[in-house]
Amino acid sequence: MKIIVVSKRHGSTRSFTLGGWTRALLSACMVGIPVGAVTLAVSQHLSSNSSDILTAESTEAWEETLVEQQSQVERAKQDSERKLAALTLRVAELQARLVRLDALGERLTTMAKLDTGEFDFGRSPARGGPEQDIDETTYAAPDFQEALEQLGAQIEDRQQQLDTLEALLAKRKLQNDVFLAGRPIKKGWMSSRYGRRSDPFTGRIAWHAGVDFAGKEGSDIIAVASGVVTWSGERYGYGQMVEVNHGNGFSTRYAHCKENLVKVGDVIKKGQVVALMGSSGRSTGPHVHFEVYKNGRTVDPATYIHRASR
Ligand SMILES: [Zn+2]
Repeated sequence: MKIIVVSKRHGSTRSFTLGGWTRALLSACMVGIPVGAVTLAVSQHLSSNSSDILTAESTEAWEETLVEQQSQVERAKQDSERKLAALTLRVAELQARLVRLDALGERLTTMAKLDTGEFDFGRSPARGGPEQDIDETTYAAPDFQEALEQLGAQIEDRQQQLDTLEALLAKRKLQNDVFLAGRPIKKGWMSSRYGRRSDPFTGRIAWHAGVDFAGKEGSDIIAVASGVVTWSGERYGYGQMVEVNHGNGFSTRYAHCKENLVKVGDVIKKGQVVALMGSSGRSTGPHVHFEVYKNGRTVDPATYIHRASR
């Protein structure tokens, strides 16, 4: 290789001829310098960055964060497991309560002799609606949630049935108890009807405002319906008398008693013994004079005596 060097100042030229070794050295310099520069820059860049990340302190901080996150995940896992266990227990409790509610409902339905078709506590509630396909890939409700929803619907259904049943029974009980029916005695016979008759004392035609039941002295006189005692004591013509208000405009009177067993204000039940049969007042012998008042006027008690008890 021949190198010609031109001098600017003198215009002269000089030439050198390079041997094998010199040539190799020059090439190494020409290629080596840029490569070395790049290598140096990269290595400096790397070392400056890694010094930010990988100091002992920062490494420690990273490890701490990692440990903290791991424990958070662990806590969350334990927490959800605990919650799931509690929920499972709650579902089991609800199912047990539902079984008891069903049993109660069935017993009430049987006791009340209700149509069991209307109230069916053994079956799941009747529901419906068109079938709609659910894309399994986009919707997958967990079994647990489904079970909860089913349970909720069942409880709601039983609640409604029991509410209706309660209302029905309450109404029936009220009607039954206030419903005037039957005789005011357990033993005895009807000795005088309601209406016109000849007066047992004067023999003249008189109005008999009630019916008489003759029986043994001291035998039970019973209330024909539940109510509140509004009179208990001596009353002109009636002797010892008990009056009971049954509400709905109805009241009854039990007269000529030997002894009254209730006092004014007492709440009495249908069939309760209110007095003992006697012959006090205007009476010819042991009997009970029984009157029924409807809106303040006497009516024939026979209508109520003969109608069937509900
Ligand atoms: Zn009478």
